[in-house]
Amino acid sequence: MTTGIYFHEILAEESWPIIGNRYSNFSKILKDLEDELENAILLSPQKPSEDLLLKTHSKKYFKQLKSASYFNGATLTVGACVEASLRVWNMDLTNAVVFLAAAGHHAHPNSGWGGTYLSCIGPVLNILRASGLSRLAYIDTDSHHGDGAREILQDDHDALHVCFCSSDRRDEKANVCVDVGRRTDDEGYLEKVENELPLIERFDPEIVIHFFGHDTHRDDYGDRGLSTDFFPRLARRMRDFADDVCNGRYVVIDGGGANSRVGRVIWPEIIRELSR
Ligand SMILES: [Zn+2]
Ligand SMILES: [Zn+2]
Repeated sequence: MTTGIYFHEILAEESWPIIGNRYSNFSKILKDLEDELENAILLSPQKPSEDLLLKTHSKKYFKQLKSASYFNGATLTVGACVEASLRVWNMDLTNAVVFLAAAGHHAHPNSGWGGTYLSCIGPVLNILRASGLSRLAYIDTDSHHGDGAREILQDDHDALHVCFCSSDRRDEKANVCVDVGRRTDDEGYLEKVENELPLIERFDPEIVIHFFGHDTHRDDYGDRGLSTDFFPRLARRMRDFADDVCNGRYVVIDGGGANSRVGRVIWPEIIRELSR
């Protein structure tokens, strides 16, 4: 088994919208982790084709983004998500972790906000469909509602979006939002995740993609009262779940969170869990 860790050097070199310079010392942290772990490999992503991005985003919006300071980081992030998902789908990697800048769950086809301007899940779904995938489950445990991802997945009956945020909603297609509460604790949050796993299992996904923010940490800007221990526990549970339902095919995409001290502690632990 092999866990892919996708990290481009540019992420450590710059400060990014909302998340700042949380990756400033990640080059060394991840290199040390690769040396420590027999089953983990550190990978640098390539940019995806514009054609692929234009299947999700409008030409007009994409053209505007090209002049933004974060455009390179955003495209390399989508490239990492696409490559990681494809290699996990092809079982060339068992699972993967993707570090990001300026791309993610608040990106819509024609707009973006909250530090995320290109969609990760739209291009991932397109590339996997072209490689034979039918059903994908997208889990979002960032502190905020994944509005952009929801718009993109809304009418796709073979994509299930399960989002842990601030409201309880279930649509006809079975997309779910779960209100985790303004302040909860590790046990309370994990129980809410556990309650949704049977729904995801019945949907029978062929891969699980997880938008995994740590802004929910009690010391981060989306504080839900969670401790540092919560994050590796969640990763372990979801890895076991993916083992049970989709041959372990599991891709974790870093989400929101600007506290670099939290990130430095939780990500090595999460990667250790995935590479076991
Ligand atoms: Zn967030
Ligand atoms: Zn939501």
